[in-house]
Amino acid sequence: MKIKHIEPIAVNLPMVKPVKMSFEEVKSANNALVRLETDDGIVGWGEAASAPTMTGETLASMVAAVRYLAPLLEGMPADSPGDIAAVMSRAHCYLYGNHAAKSTIEMALHDALGRATGKPVCELLGGKRRDRVPVLRLIGTGSAAGDIEEAKRKKAEGYVAFKVKVGVADPLADAERTRKVCAALRNGDLLLCADANQGWNAEQAIAYVRAVEDAGLAFFEQPVAGDDLEGMARVARASRIRIGADEGLHSIEDLRRHHERGAAHGGSLKTIKLGGMKPVHDAALLCEELGMQVNLASKMAETGIGTAGVLHLAAAVPSVNWGVSLTNQYLVDDVIVRPLDFSNGHARVPAGPGLGIEVDEAKVRRYAVER
Ligand SMILES: [Mg+2]
Repeated sequence: MKIKHIEPIAVNLPMVKPVKMSFEEVKSANNALVRLETDDGIVGWGEAASAPTMTGETLASMVAAVRYLAPLLEGMPADSPGDIAAVMSRAHCYLYGNHAAKSTIEMALHDALGRATGKPVCELLGGKRRDRVPVLRLIGTGSAAGDIEEAKRKKAEGYVAFKVKVGVADPLADAERTRKVCAALRNGDLLLCADANQGWNAEQAIAYVRAVEDAGLAFFEQPVAGDDLEGMARVARASRIRIGADEGLHSIEDLRRHHERGAAHGGSLKTIKLGGMKPVHDAALLCEELGMQVNLASKMAETGIGTAGVLHLAAAVPSVNWGVSLTNQYLVDDVIVRPLDFSNGHARVPAGPGLGIEVDEAKVRRYAVER
């Protein structure tokens, strides 16, 4: 089968409540979807959340990039993972960067190929190793008391993995809040971590890690700017707490560089940063080889399409010891027919061919915005 038509669709979806990060407050989800149709009449879907502070791409730029690439890729065969690689190689030849935009096309190609061959995407990526994963729950209400209440409520619902958002306040105040949340969650086999989203400089981050050294954090993500590898390495040397890279990872080479410089013990892998599902899977294989830990993540906030993509990756990668961050639950509504299976703080990998989801096109058009 050949690619017949690649259509980018910008959507805007309401969120349950705004989520505050160190540099931004996300109030509604602005995502780029791709509807890819083959000459056999098979339709595959892909999605990328817009994350300008992370990828440099806006909703409008993603739609423009997909629109630019579409005529260059239409007509190419899409019968195997090798064909998908060839399509993406051509996309990289014609357009540098724009990984989030490219990831929407790559995800849609995997979905279409899976539907055409009757295989779930995780099988196309090497096989299913697990079919249910714990969801890493974000904790960031703005106060220690609010965080503790939220964490306890989520723990009672069955959540076993928590991420405290820091980098917003003074490092010692954030450390105090982190220690309180960790203490409140103690008892039980929980994964606890913190994420500063580049909010601090190395001195501030070092003050934080030293103050939370015994709190029980499995890792601390992106304490300093993504391109400050020396700062990352300094923070990594300053305490026993393991350091994760997120905003600093945009390629397999970035992963190697962090490892070589002692700048991270693991990383958060996202399709929007690495350019698709296969690059994320390749990065996870490299992590395994280098002894680095893996977190898989959606960006705030993805529909069932992008979320299914992350879940198929979570099924296929060697290990996902640093959890799976999903954002679907922050949306008021979704564009898929049957909601994904979220229960007791865990998510199930959707079964069935392709991404294992059915997209409600009428809903897609309802949330579509003109770009
Ligand atoms: Mg992060």
